[in-house]
Amino acid sequence: MSSLIKDNNYDYLIVGAGLFGTTFAREMTDAGYKCVVVDKRKHIGGNVYSEKRSGIDVHVYGAHIFHTNNDKIWEYVNRFATFNNYINKPKVRFGDKIFSFPINLMTLHQLWGVTTPEEAEKKLQEVRIPCENPDNLEDWILSQVGREVYETFIKGYTMKQWQRDPKELPASIIKRLPIRLTFDENYFFDKYQGIPTEGYTQMVENMLDGIEVVTNVDYFSNKSHYDSLAKNVVFTGKVDEYFDFRFGELEYRTLRFEHEEIEGDFQGNAVINYTHPETPYTRILEHKHFQPQTASKISNTIVTREYSDEYKRGKTPYYPINNDKNTKMYKKYALLAKNEPGVIFGGRLAEYKYYDMHQVIGSALVKSKRELEKLSNSAYNKNTD
Ligand code: FAD
Ligand code: UDP
Repeated sequence: MSSLIKDNNYDYLIVGAGLFGTTFAREMTDAGYKCVVVDKRKHIGGNVYSEKRSGIDVHVYGAHIFHTNNDKIWEYVNRFATFNNYINKPKVRFGDKIFSFPINLMTLHQLWGVTTPEEAEKKLQEVRIPCENPDNLEDWILSQVGREVYETFIKGYTMKQWQRDPKELPASIIKRLPIRLTFDENYFFDKYQGIPTEGYTQMVENMLDGIEVVTNVDYFSNKSHYDSLAKNVVFTGKVDEYFDFRFGELEYRTLRFEHEEIEGDFQGNAVINYTHPETPYTRILEHKHFQPQTASKISNTIVTREYSDEYKRGKTPYYPINNDKNTKMYKKYALLAKNEPGVIFGGRLAEYKYYDMHQVIGSALVKSKRELEKLSNSAYNKNTD
């Protein structure tokens, strides 16, 4: 990694060294195009950045578990990293009690004493609150599991995470979580799951092998200069910022992470969610448990308390808030983005989308393929003119 951009004749200037920018850069470089990747942070990887501290790989910007159903994407990431067999099975702590999570037969056993899928279903039928069109988060979850489950596991966490009435949030946020009447505690449904054994940063470093990367560069500090260095731009930052906030500011949630190194084993699991409204943080991560094969060999431990807060300029925008108001505003920006010559917009911030890692990589693979097809068609047209 250098601190200066070497040339001024790139095919692609890629703004953002997160997974979108990195995947796009890899594909275009492999096809013979000259790329430079810049990032305003001091490191590569965007939000998946992890760093070794006292022998423990710390997920600096929150827990990242790779999961996908897509064979091609799984093969793709395995080109750059070896994955362990970590399966995410977080627990919930509500007051003094610990529950199995996501909601499954064990959770309902712990809450209600039911012991079979049939008993659980019977109890759920009694407590469900039917709703004709449950399009908001609260109505949807009440229609699935009723008020007690909602208030124990969902309401407090959601209010802390989004600082909004769950009735004003889209149901899509909560539909990410499975509800099962079996003892399966896997957080995800996907065929493949794991965490790179050498950490995400090493994986991203491998993806960027042989590609020029410059960190500590804010594209907006001198946009016209950076634009002049390349024929095309790939932009993975905030789309509203790119267009000078002309339709207003899109809202985000930001996060604050409090990392602490202590002796021993703090909580016996990688992730514990705190769903009580009076506990100020949403979850505590214990990083050594993301690598189950080595966790017991490490005598100290690093834990991270995760707090959610309203985003303001200058903070890091982590979660787009895809409610009606923001979706309407985003659509206006998306139209401008579509017509911006020579610029490709991609990733969580530029598309204002709640993308997981496999989806961001998938989207970058699709967009780079489309770009290569466009280039080969225009070369063909040139040759046949
Ligand atoms: P980013 O990683 O945000 O990268 C964008 C980059 O652009 C950043 O590095 C930023 O510094 C840079 N940038 C922005 N503006 C500029 C500028 N003006 N100049 C230069 N650089 C700029 N996904 C999963 O699959 N599993 C999980 O378990 C999971 N957990 C998550 C937990 C948390 C707390 C969060 C926030 C996300 C989680 N995700 C998870 C989602 C995952 O982080 C994203 O899908 C992925 O990181 C998005 O990549 P990206 O390239 O779109 O964006
Ligand atoms: N959620 C909850 N209780 C939990 C975990 C999640 O209510 O213990 C809700 C919350 O609204 C959250 C959403 O489910 O925003 C999606 O959870 P997920 O773990 O996918 O969030 P992320 O990992 O993206 O922060």
